[in-house]
Amino acid sequence: MIQQNIKDENSLLVCPECKNAVDLSRYPNLAPGMVVECNHCGMTLLVKEIMSKEIKADIVDEGK
Ligand SMILES: [Zn+2]
Repeated sequence: MIQQNIKDENSLLVCPECKNAVDLSRYPNLAPGMVVECNHCGMTLLVKEIMSKEIKADIVDEGK
């Protein structure tokens, strides 16, 4: 039986800004509500939803 983890090894977070896959190795305990930084464009992203193969995130407007 496969144990269901919060973040699958194959989960990909595609940066909404630059469309590159964000390196999540720095975020081993990724969870919705967490903020990550795109290692390609430096954009700050708020994790919205974590699914088995895909992670959804919104761009955080740091100007607020
Ligand atoms: Zn990016």
